[in-house]
Amino acid sequence: MKISVKRGTKEIGGSAVEIIADCGQRIIVDLGLPLNAENNIEELLPDIKGIKQKSSDLAGLLISHAHQDHYGLGKYIDKSIPVYLSKETAAIMHIAKQHYLPDAFEFENQNYFENEQSFSVGVFTVTPYLCDHSAYGAYAFLIEADGQKVFYSGDFRAHGRKRKLFYNFLRHKPENTDVLLLEGSCLGREKSEHYQGEEELEKEFIDFWKNSKGLSLVQTSAQNIDRMVTIYRAARRSRKILVLSGYAGHILWAMDNKNLPNFTWKDVKKITAKPRRSHEIDLTTILQNPRKYVVVTDYHTQQSLQAYNAIDEQTSYVYSMWNGYKEKYQDWLGYLKNKKVQMKDIHTSGHADIPTLKKMVNALKPKMVVPIHTFYPERFCDLFDNAVCLNDGDVFDVSVK
Ligand SMILES: [Zn+2]
Ligand SMILES: [Zn+2]
Repeated sequence: MKISVKRGTKEIGGSAVEIIADCGQRIIVDLGLPLNAENNIEELLPDIKGIKQKSSDLAGLLISHAHQDHYGLGKYIDKSIPVYLSKETAAIMHIAKQHYLPDAFEFENQNYFENEQSFSVGVFTVTPYLCDHSAYGAYAFLIEADGQKVFYSGDFRAHGRKRKLFYNFLRHKPENTDVLLLEGSCLGREKSEHYQGEEELEKEFIDFWKNSKGLSLVQTSAQNIDRMVTIYRAARRSRKILVLSGYAGHILWAMDNKNLPNFTWKDVKKITAKPRRSHEIDLTTILQNPRKYVVVTDYHTQQSLQAYNAIDEQTSYVYSMWNGYKEKYQDWLGYLKNKKVQMKDIHTSGHADIPTLKKMVNALKPKMVVPIHTFYPERFCDLFDNAVCLNDGDVFDVSVK
């Protein structure tokens, strides 16, 4: 087997890996939009034979999870290419399209896989492993052909609400892995060696809301289900009602897990201009007793809050997503600052910290560790004796030790 990282050896996002069997058959793992891309345009597609017009040697495309930096350029592929993804990934993409999110699309030839159920793609055998990550239904892949094994970590962590998955994996990991393609998002970003868990964030939310006398606002990604659970739990423990957009509620509902907050629960409401059903609420009602509510804002609620002049120094606001997105929201953040809102950042990474990366490598004991999804691949050489840094497009023979 050979591997060629088409994009991602020296950047976070835009991940695309080509795996080539000795017979010439190929599969692609992820086809992401680069993080620094201003627009999703076809010209960004990496140079991979057979993706715009399917060729017979291209067996399929695996998608690890529903983050644009892993599937975003998939909108340009030949529709007949078989795409393998989790039901949750497909559902998140479907709902994003239904709610007209920018760059939303769905794959045509979709094939769902199940956790740890091996399946064949041409000559390749693929085993997906469900991971703890900020995207729901995120998977790592073991890819086997020619008697060799490549393990693609995807994006993962071990400090989220599904951390058990990681420790279970360490106990039941595959043996004799040749190459581990390992994400290194945390390298160069590490403020501390250890990342906070979602439970620690829950406490921070509760502490912050303890003294607040007005409306509580939170800004987060509706697709970050772990964080939605954290916010819900903190709201409930603070005796507040969680108010979500229809889109956020729809995503939670579609994950088909009755333990996730949803609009059938009495302390979860959907914000709407004209409430008709018991689970719906409008801003006028919220503002009659603002202290009672936590509103997860989206663009529309932010506009309405400003139009209603609903924000004052009693309002509290939590920014609960990656710092790098702040630039996008600078007008809104500036508005809040002017209104003297109490503001706080409460967030933890969706990615593995260094101790977790080490645990992964120690358990799998791969012959080689290839960094991907990192701005600092050379840091892998300090961490692991068997790190091999590649360049985008290099073709690397898995059998060479
Ligand atoms: Zn990613
Ligand atoms: Zn991700």
